Amino acid sequence: MNPYDLFKKTPQSNCGQCGYPACLAFAAAVTKGGEDPGKCPFLDPADPDLARREGPGLEQLSRRRDLELVEYLKSKIAGLDFAALAADLGCEAMTGDDGEALLFSFLGQRVRLDRNGVLIDGVEPEDPRDQILLYNYVHSRGGAAPAQRDWIGLESLPNTISKVRTLATYCEKPLAALFAAHPPAAVLAAGERLGGRELATGAADLAVIVPVLPRVPLCLHFWAAAPEEGFSAQAKVLFDRRVLDFLDLETLVFAGERLADRLALLLEQPGRAV
Ligand code: SF4
Repeated sequence: MNPYDLFKKTPQSNCGQCGYPACLAFAAAVTKGGEDPGKCPFLDPADPDLARREGPGLEQLSRRRDLELVEYLKSKIAGLDFAALAADLGCEAMTGDDGEALLFSFLGQRVRLDRNGVLIDGVEPEDPRDQILLYNYVHSRGGAAPAQRDWIGLESLPNTISKVRTLATYCEKPLAALFAAHPPAAVLAAGERLGGRELATGAADLAVIVPVLPRVPLCLHFWAAAPEEGFSAQAKVLFDRRVLDFLDLETLVFAGERLADRLALLLEQPGRAV
């Protein structure tokens, strides 16, 4: 069955109960990616056309796509002169037995990136999205750090409508939960362990600038809960207005997600090394 045949069997209401934003996307995931047709409660489970297809799940498909993207990015940076780019990327260039490499910090971790692969604190990252982020950064070729930052929300960058919700779900909500569960001083200390510093501002109860990459700092604003007024703790991530010179939008949102992960790790395991 092709996606359109399955699409015609759905109510075509795009209600989202299956976890997909549209019936056609769900139909494609079932017919091409082995997604479970039972996730749409409106399909007839007795329909023989809907027997679950064997095949890679969506997670596998997405991992395969990510690995292909890593290879593509490696090909894009293959001809770059690392030594000439190092200053604009805020990196150190070195030449070893296996050629040129760039050394830099990624959320407090030491990265070694060359044309064949990436090591983070000496270990190959398990999730290819980390490699995509790091290769994308190098591929941007960097630039001078602005003398003064102009912090804006993701919604103020172009073409970000669909990403604003992703950032809220995977970064800002987890950050708000951390701020609700830990004292501000502990959140600040975790940010400082990642190389961050407090920003004095009256706009939030706590504001911390954390360098995700040498030219990509993010500014986290936190507000404590005010139960008497019906407000839960809130967090907002701000970006420098020029951030898209250094990372594409999708990678940028992932960088926010990784920042929330790292802060959570340090707050939940305060004795662990950065
Ligand atoms: S649950 Fe069914 S009707 Fe709703 S969006 Fe998914 S496929 Fe469409």
